[in-house]
Amino acid sequence: MRQAEMSDLSVEGGEAAGEYVVMKFGGTSVQDAAAIRRLCQLVRRALPQCPVLVVSALAKVTDQLMNVGWWAAEGRLDASRESLQLLRQRHEGVAGGLVGGDEYERLRREFAREFDALAAVLIRIAWEKAFAPHTQDQLLGMGESLSSKLVHAALRSEGLEAALVDARDCIITDTAHTRATPLWDETKERLQAVLVPLLRAGQIPVMGGFVGATRDGIPTTLGRGGSDFSASIVGAGLHAKRIEIWTDVDGVMTTDPALCPDARRVARMSFNEAAELAYFGAKVLHPATLVPAMRSNVPVWVLNSRNPDCAGTEIVAHSETDGRVKAITSKRGVAIVDIEPVRWFAPELLREVFDVFERHQHSLDLLSASRGSLALLVSSVTALPSIAEELKGLANVRWENHKALVCLVGEQIRRRPEVASQALRAIADIDVRMICQGASERNISFLVDESRAVEAVQRLHRAFFSPAVPEPALEASSSRAMCQAEGAW
Ligand code: ADP
Ligand code: ASP
Ligand code: MG
Repeated sequence: MRQAEMSDLSVEGGEAAGEYVVMKFGGTSVQDAAAIRRLCQLVRRALPQCPVLVVSALAKVTDQLMNVGWWAAEGRLDASRESLQLLRQRHEGVAGGLVGGDEYERLRREFAREFDALAAVLIRIAWEKAFAPHTQDQLLGMGESLSSKLVHAALRSEGLEAALVDARDCIITDTAHTRATPLWDETKERLQAVLVPLLRAGQIPVMGGFVGATRDGIPTTLGRGGSDFSASIVGAGLHAKRIEIWTDVDGVMTTDPALCPDARRVARMSFNEAAELAYFGAKVLHPATLVPAMRSNVPVWVLNSRNPDCAGTEIVAHSETDGRVKAITSKRGVAIVDIEPVRWFAPELLREVFDVFERHQHSLDLLSASRGSLALLVSSVTALPSIAEELKGLANVRWENHKALVCLVGEQIRRRPEVASQALRAIADIDVRMICQGASERNISFLVDESRAVEAVQRLHRAFFSPAVPEPALEASSSRAMCQAEGAW
């Protein structure tokens, strides 16, 4: 998310008033009837705190809807319909595991309407031979619409007073389809107008995450994994007491446990540390999640819906600033772009480079400069040929993709010079193309070949989190900002 967009989310006022708790359940936490029953128990436990629910689509459904759309665009309407039929059966099956009798029949009728609408969208996609961003938003948002109906029905069948809320009535966004940004004032107004009366009446609002709508009511989405962001928007809009992100791991871990099974839970971290981790690839939180929470100072908890008694991770304004590495992450699919001025490296060139990237709506992850050239990291190469063309005459642009940025995150790690040297020792025989330290106090990053990223993370994790490794002593000295690009082009 760009800085300008972030500032749009600023919330007036300081401490959260703290009347409500927002509970977001990710895909695996609603993946089947058993998971939804567990969710109901957690909600029952939270009743005294007046919960508001934000739910993701059932696990993998968004990916499947994406495939269904692309197949239709490619003219493979049969495959697309078949997959849609399987999705329908899965949702009906989950409904059957949760409710019976009339309630089941009512849900089946609702789903029939949703799937008829989906089939109509597919026909349009096939006819247009294109899966345009606004159509993607219409199609993908259906996953959350279906799951919120299941959760709503399950809660009611357990005797809980739940109210289904259409997120498109509350989260009002700009028109940037597939990566929309909320229009804060309107969203806050709608959230208060729709949710507060329900909460005051003792109801549990249930809404789909990830989706929103433009001022004209056209469906939008907040980017993949965006339900975390929705929860934070709702929490900030209501000045909630806390935002709970219920997922399939014990909290934010020292690294992705899928890569290092011995990853440990981080008990507490700062908003900035968590935002840095999310931005640099930790899938456990959508990159923009912390922005609304941070602005309105609402604490965020990451919790495990399969292990609810585990304390999880508390994310708050400030955490320990002892310079320890808190976690390691990696962001794959990064490209390094080398911009070499045709004549000399003038400040105007920097401005022109930023303007060109902005015109192409191309965000930059990192930048490093030397006397003779500029190196940028980007997450997509699609616009680079046009950008190179526009800069022709001013600079030569070359790029290399299939890189990964491996990041160490922790408040004030820059103040412990031994962190960088320990890290470099751990990955000494891995070709590091760029090292970045100093852009923030809490991040040291290394650019490596994507093929070595997992190994780099595992080795760094062993170096910093193996029980055999003693805690490095805290040193008062601070290293200067360093940003170094290496390697021949
Ligand atoms: P949900 O469906 O609940 O939104 P996600 O799959 O989006 O869940 O995010 C949870 C996953 O994030 C975990 O299963 C884990 O593999 C991955 N992950 C990556 N980095 C981390 C980390 N540092 N701590 C915890 N989980 C992480
Ligand atoms: N269902 C959406 C996705 O898979 C949003 C989310 O789960 O956060 O991207
Ligand atoms: Mg997620």
